[in-house]
Amino acid sequence: MNVAVVGGGAVGLSTALTLGRHGASVTVFERDELGSGASGRAAGLCYDAFADDVDAAVAADAITRYRDLDLFEPQPYVWVARDESDAAAVREQIAGMQRNGVAVEALTPAELGDRYPALDTSGIEVAGLASDAGVLDPDAVVATLAETAREAGSTIETETPVSLASPTTVETPDETRTFDAVVVAAGPQTKPLVADIGVSLALKAYRAQALVTEPVDAALPSFYDATREFYWRSKADALLVGDGAHEVDPTEWNPEADAEFVTRSLDRVEQSTALSPACDRAWSGLCTATPDGAPLAGQVADGLWVATGWQGHGLMRAPAMGDYLAADVLNRPNPLSEHLPDRVDPTRFDGSEEFAALDDPTRDWDE
Ligand SMILES: Cc1cc2nc3c(=O)[nH]c(=O)nc-3n(C[C@H](O)[C@H](O)[C@H](O)COP(=O)(O)OP(=O)(O)OC[C@H]3O[C@@H](n4cnc5c(N)ncnc54)[C@H](O)[C@@H]3O)c2cc1C
Repeated sequence: MNVAVVGGGAVGLSTALTLGRHGASVTVFERDELGSGASGRAAGLCYDAFADDVDAAVAADAITRYRDLDLFEPQPYVWVARDESDAAAVREQIAGMQRNGVAVEALTPAELGDRYPALDTSGIEVAGLASDAGVLDPDAVVATLAETAREAGSTIETETPVSLASPTTVETPDETRTFDAVVVAAGPQTKPLVADIGVSLALKAYRAQALVTEPVDAALPSFYDATREFYWRSKADALLVGDGAHEVDPTEWNPEADAEFVTRSLDRVEQSTALSPACDRAWSGLCTATPDGAPLAGQVADGLWVATGWQGHGLMRAPAMGDYLAADVLNRPNPLSEHLPDRVDPTRFDGSEEFAALDDPTRDWDE
């Protein structure tokens, strides 16, 4: 089977990898460099802390694959709530995760402070601790997936923007080629790409920002504050801090971080720890959203598949979802095939839905 994969991010490369391993002849087309989309800009959080059983199954499958590729670095994940309604939600999440067999426990602020003395636990109502969580290095993920896909026989063409002339006909600047199947994993560009051949996707883009601090001298877990809505992870001897998401037009967005985001994030770190690091570097990237928060991953026309709408979780899910998609294209069994198809079927929407990419896209982050 001759398959084209459009998009050289973690999802496209993961899909190419499994397709190649099952004997397909695969060509990956990437308009720029590998990882130049969201994959190379991700924070790299990777955890199994999901209360939903299908999400937990995808996460467990992805973590196993990342471990096999030697890309998963253990780092416990703590999330906290500061008001009663967020705290009730966190307690409910923990109960759901425990039902899924996730190694997670609820901690009081005192217990959290004992484990992580560098955290300022004042104002925290409750914390969850997921001990089997970890982090990924996005550059290493992209490089390793590309190398492994090549070893499995894929051809990867970078600096090659493509468009679709039909569900299975790909136009590059130099030629027109027809394949048995095409998988479009082009992030927010998936929508305009397939719109050219009459497929309408319920997909929006939002911009997320991140920064890396100067080195800090503290042992900290990955951390998400559900009330203040920001996160960090340890990255080498520094912290990578993220939040500041807002809906944007994917054709017009600023890949640099906003100055307000940097100031706000450093303030948040200072409020939550005894640390006051400076910013080393900051950036932004585009994430994709769907009306129900689940991805669009599956067939949309004869010979055409899409994979997008990861809602900020695409890197951690990539190897599991790439394997699932490849199996779907090749009509082979996959461990997730029992649960996923309805949840992620891209045709569950007709593309005309009105929805907001984020819960509250008008929120003023400087408040
Ligand atoms: C700041 C930030 C932090 C994040 N943190 C995390 C995190 O901690 N954990 C997590 O799991 N996820 C995180 N994400 C989300 C994650 O990065 C994405 O969900 C994931 O990378 C999506 O991978 P992808 O392969 O689908 O898309 P992308 O990596 O965007 O790849 C799509 C590729 O398609 C290419 N392309 C587009 N159009 C064309 C065309 N016409 N022809 C050829 N190629 C084309 C693009 O150049 C791009 O390289 C974060 C995102 C951002 C921005």
